[in-house]
Amino acid sequence: MKISDLFRKQQTTFSFEFFPPRDEISAVDFGINVGQLMKLNPSFVTVTYGAGGSTQERTFALVDYLQNKIGLTCMAHYTCVNATRKRVEEDLTHLVNLGIENLMLLRGDPPEGQELFIAPENGFHYASELMAYAHEKFNFCKSGACYVDKHPEAPTLEEDIRHLKKKTDAGADFLITQLFFENKNYFRFIDLAGKAGIHCRIIPGIIPITSYRQIERFTKMSGAEIPASLVQKLEHYKNDADAIYHIGLEFSINQCRELLANGAPGLHFYTLNKSRAAVEIFEKLSKEIGI
Ligand code: FAD
Repeated sequence: MKISDLFRKQQTTFSFEFFPPRDEISAVDFGINVGQLMKLNPSFVTVTYGAGGSTQERTFALVDYLQNKIGLTCMAHYTCVNATRKRVEEDLTHLVNLGIENLMLLRGDPPEGQELFIAPENGFHYASELMAYAHEKFNFCKSGACYVDKHPEAPTLEEDIRHLKKKTDAGADFLITQLFFENKNYFRFIDLAGKAGIHCRIIPGIIPITSYRQIERFTKMSGAEIPASLVQKLEHYKNDADAIYHIGLEFSINQCRELLANGAPGLHFYTLNKSRAAVEIFEKLSKEIGI
């Protein structure tokens, strides 16, 4: 099913992001975690595309499996790093043949050791160009990425949003945000996007902090602001893994509660292929607000 059709039935969606497991052991672990998450009856799930297309085969195999064997509504991520138009056409045709109807279309990051993104000859410079191409040639429901705390390469949030408008004009049906921790930044972003003429669903991307070393990792990865009060609390308990988990979980529950109460159209969880935190957040929220 196209996720855009699902939106007509579900005012609020709950979705999960997975990455393709690296080896047999991770695959077993993945199966256990997906089993737990399926009990939550997600609206849809998404599967990432490794940097530079490194997981292409596994990404395609996993979306095929999750959608066609497990029966989940699935969205494949796809980046245009190192991809010519011909290659994109072949890859997207392959996904059509697998019955995949939903795509998250991304530019991708420059390869390791390269500072700037360089489009290959006859390739795409920005996600909006890839979006326009897919819109013209195929019939997918299409999603794009956006950045509440601004994309790291963009000089200002306003400029980033101006470019984001090109992505929605090019055919993006909805957007999912990069992870963030300051809800006020999400609502500021929604306001600025609306003023820039972006009116599609913008689903917040949520990641619960479950270990101390994730603070640095998440900040580096996304440039997301982590509230000072949360960092202080985590610092205080940095040698107590259980306390860190519960502080991170409590923060996430409050974050999700506030987002939904103030009109966010859903929650998209970056699960890191783990189920425990997402299941606990759901259990808590479902008791409170009946999701
Ligand atoms: P774009 O939208 O093209 O933006 C990139 C930069 O270019 C921004 O700074 C933007 O402001 C600027 N820009 C855009 N258009 C123009 C223009 N016309 N002129 C000048 N500047 C412009 N990466 C992966 O490798 N695999 C994944 O599966 C993956 N999944 C993701 C899922 C989500 C929800 C998010 C938020 C990110 C994901 N990423 C993934 C990371 C993403 O690939 C990087 O953040 C990448 O650096 C930007 O991709 P984009 O599609 O947002 O690029």
